[in-house]
Amino acid sequence: MIIDLRSDTVTKPTEDMMEAMMSAHVGDDVYKEDPTVNALEQRIAEMFGMDEALFFPSGTMANQTALKLHTNPGDQIICDKYAHIYNYEGGGASFNSGVSCNLIDGERGMFTAHQVKAAINPPDFYHSPLSRLVEIENTTNKGGGACWDFSELEKIKTVCDTHNLGFHLDGARLWNALVAQQYTAQHYGALFDTISVCLSKGLGCPIGSVLVGKKALMKNGIRVRKILGGGMRQVGYFAAAGLYALDHHLERLSEDHQNAKEIGAVLELAPYVKRVEPIETNIVIFELQEKIDVTVFLNRLKENNIHIIEMGGGKLRMVTHLNYTYTMHKTVLYTLKTIMI
Ligand SMILES: *Cc1c(COP(=O)(O)O)cnc(C)c1O
Repeated sequence: MIIDLRSDTVTKPTEDMMEAMMSAHVGDDVYKEDPTVNALEQRIAEMFGMDEALFFPSGTMANQTALKLHTNPGDQIICDKYAHIYNYEGGGASFNSGVSCNLIDGERGMFTAHQVKAAINPPDFYHSPLSRLVEIENTTNKGGGACWDFSELEKIKTVCDTHNLGFHLDGARLWNALVAQQYTAQHYGALFDTISVCLSKGLGCPIGSVLVGKKALMKNGIRVRKILGGGMRQVGYFAAAGLYALDHHLERLSEDHQNAKEIGAVLELAPYVKRVEPIETNIVIFELQEKIDVTVFLNRLKENNIHIIEMGGGKLRMVTHLNYTYTMHKTVLYTLKTIMI
């Protein structure tokens, strides 16, 4: 039994999800004739109280499309130094949209309205790139699954409105924030111009993300998706997995959060651990004591069939998910308690 805690993207569809997929009604989605994709898009748009939604093969493509919809070449995006769009999308912001990123030095991937204000270039100072868009991530990936303080997001929205900036939410793990806090999809829909959400992380689908947004911005979305190669045909089989997951895998994310907290509690007491970052959702980030060799530690876990990843900067990451069973959890807690380094 391999216990894979490297990411919440390692899940396999459950039997019931497979059944929902196999019985999907499909059509050609490039012609907008796939009834299941249309139903998924409509459902997610309504959840967020947004005008439109578009189904994408990946979160990266959904985000990259959003950046393109908000900007012109030469413009600048304001985001955190940990942002996925900056660190983990292959340089797509510059490749696809010809924009640069003005990085904010935030806390665990989050920043303040005050920092946003300070990062805006004066629009009439034509020597500087034109600030166009503020991009945030909730929960933060590299920030360890941290959830934003909603009132800070409201303040940032005010700054965006005052300075004519778009506001995009990379919500690859927004489902986790929705379950962990009291704010709803509608609250987020009211604040942002565009939001990407992911079906293939916590919700356990094999593929898929959805971009929701306001009509005026989204009218070009389908064209940008086509240009990026994301126009798909009988893709309702995957949309069916998304619909199934919204019904059956959303509320259960709280179990992932509970498991992550229990892992964190064991790590806090472990003699080989220097520091555990606060755990709010399904991501556990920790550092080892200086005298411990990271490779030796990772190999020792592997010998016990536990796989986790290194994030650089001495940080290690574990992510709980749908396929992480009770038995696996007991094994992990026991191993972390008893492992000799
Ligand atoms: C995983 C992730 C994405 C991208 O999703 P892919 O489907 O892997 O392209 C975007 N943003 C964040 C914060 C993520 O964690």
